[in-house]
Amino acid sequence: MPDVVELLSRLIGFDTVSRKSNRALIDFVADYLDGLGARCTLTHNPEGTKSNLFATVGPERSGGFLLAGHTDVVPTEGQDWTSDPFRATAKNDAIYGRGTSDMKGFIAVALSLIPELAALKRDHPVHLALTYDEEVGCFGAAQLAGMIAGLPYRPRFCIVGEPTSMAVVNGHKGKLSLDCSVRGTGGHSAHNDRGVNAVEIASEIIVRLRAMQKRLTGGPLDARFDPPFTTIHTGQISGGIARNIVPRDCRFEVEIRNLPGQDPAALQREIEAFAQTLLVGEMRNIAADTDIRLDAQSCIPALAPEGEDEDTARALAVTGANHCNVVSFATEAGLYQRAGVPTIVCGPGDIRQAHRPDEFVTLDQLRSCSAFLRRMIAA
Ligand SMILES: [Zn+2]
Repeated sequence: MPDVVELLSRLIGFDTVSRKSNRALIDFVADYLDGLGARCTLTHNPEGTKSNLFATVGPERSGGFLLAGHTDVVPTEGQDWTSDPFRATAKNDAIYGRGTSDMKGFIAVALSLIPELAALKRDHPVHLALTYDEEVGCFGAAQLAGMIAGLPYRPRFCIVGEPTSMAVVNGHKGKLSLDCSVRGTGGHSAHNDRGVNAVEIASEIIVRLRAMQKRLTGGPLDARFDPPFTTIHTGQISGGIARNIVPRDCRFEVEIRNLPGQDPAALQREIEAFAQTLLVGEMRNIAADTDIRLDAQSCIPALAPEGEDEDTARALAVTGANHCNVVSFATEAGLYQRAGVPTIVCGPGDIRQAHRPDEFVTLDQLRSCSAFLRRMIAA
């Protein structure tokens, strides 16, 4: 499959680690699509350093498929790679490089189909949605899904090509990332009675989070997921500067991975209510300028399994599966579903390859994906 491999090699060659710009990759893809007669719309992050690309082949009308993926990749620092992660390397019937599975392989397959789709002059459009900043909070997709929701026409079905080994996935958990900062007072530890210890206040909130987790373990439950309940935990904490100083500041990161149907904002409000009613009042009795802040860093909606529509049934038939799966990782799919487009996740490569050194995708997976998209679109 020379076209797919050639396109994938070009895409891998752009170092699109999330903290860097993806503009060079987007410009390359936009040039390629322009040359094939596709209409491209770019939208940008507030700093103008990163772009989404929305492209349409065929008429601008309702119906047709939306093929969606993110262009950013996770960093490679500290990982033991045996080849240059930003140069595609062919070995053992596979292509190695950062993003081969997650998820430039899918994007390469989608791009390779555009020439034949453009030549067919079909009645129904095919759209491409390529985003920035998926790995750090789905910020690009949130913007692009909002744009799609505002279009005068609506794609009939969306395929997000995250690596599922070409299994059809119609559900995943959501993810709410919260940053909590506690502002106490400094001071000599010998007089801790006159201070507000930010580390200790943070600890009270963290203990509360553990209690919430214990409660959530009891339900609501959805047996399709592993684990079958919403999870909540503290992932990182920093605070204090020395043993003999009352810590003025403590900051910690909380992650909630919610089942579809469970509102993570309600859990956030519960934490806020606990902090405000039980802790802040007590803190301000000692010092007026103390505070607890809980900020949502990002919120990725869950993908809720929907009743089996015609397109999902076809995806199962084409892949030879008899049921849909759910996965534990979050994707952009929930955002497109929220924009009113029925959405599945199905893409080449193994999620166990994602984010790892020597990430690869097999040629066999790329071939399967190519055949899958061709049959879906043709039908
Ligand atoms: Zn991904």
